[in-house]
Amino acid sequence: MKNNRSEHPRTHCIRCGECCIVASPTLQAQDLPLIQGGAIAARDLFTIRQGELVWDNVIEAFTVTGQDILKVREKQEGGCVFFDDNAKACTIYEKRPAQCAAMACWDMAEFMRVYKGAKLARRDVVKDGVVLGLIEAHERRCSYEALQAHVKAIETDGEKAVEKVIGLLKFDHQMRPFLLQKLGLNPDEMDFLFGRPLADTVVMFGLKVVREPDGTFFLTRVEKRVPG
Ligand code: SF4
Ligand code: SF4
Repeated sequence: MKNNRSEHPRTHCIRCGECCIVASPTLQAQDLPLIQGGAIAARDLFTIRQGELVWDNVIEAFTVTGQDILKVREKQEGGCVFFDDNAKACTIYEKRPAQCAAMACWDMAEFMRVYKGAKLARRDVVKDGVVLGLIEAHERRCSYEALQAHVKAIETDGEKAVEKVIGLLKFDHQMRPFLLQKLGLNPDEMDFLFGRPLADTVVMFGLKVVREPDGTFFLTRVEKRVPG
């Protein structure tokens, strides 16, 4: 979010909620106690995995993340899940994340100081060794680096590379219900544990998944968002 002092000639927060409606916060390292204490649950979060495309409100552009980051979920209509539209208030105000506490739309200096600090990642939160092993195995098989390499190879290798892309998307797609059944994981925590489904995020490479009624899916081209 750019410093919009000219649009907001304020000297203090009037709790208008604009910043909560525009976007949800990313968690910083110092936010870990909020999860440990239960103010924020894993189901309230999703992971943006290394190499994934994300809209950065600070620079107001899409950017590819160089690391795993945790974000508070947003409502379907947009805005942070913790924002109560009727009350126009944060439902976890006393325990809101560091980025929110630092937000002062008329002077972004403190926000930028916090924003530049260390971010929280899945490995800081997940303590179960089996689940951590699954996260790592998923990362090895379905990294954005691997997906990008297969997408790039479509130009030279054609159908063979398309099959590899579909193979990754299928693995990611089928692994989720399998693990839910086998390990009794919480379905609402899957996007936190394994990031958003590749079938949704592959759009960053200019591909879109079309699902057939029989469960099979194929790829079509859309406008690409990631350079290279
Ligand atoms: S910091 Fe957020 S809630 Fe406070 S005045 Fe600015 S936009 Fe509104
Ligand atoms: S956690 Fe609270 S203060 Fe932060 S964006 Fe969400 S509603 Fe706003």
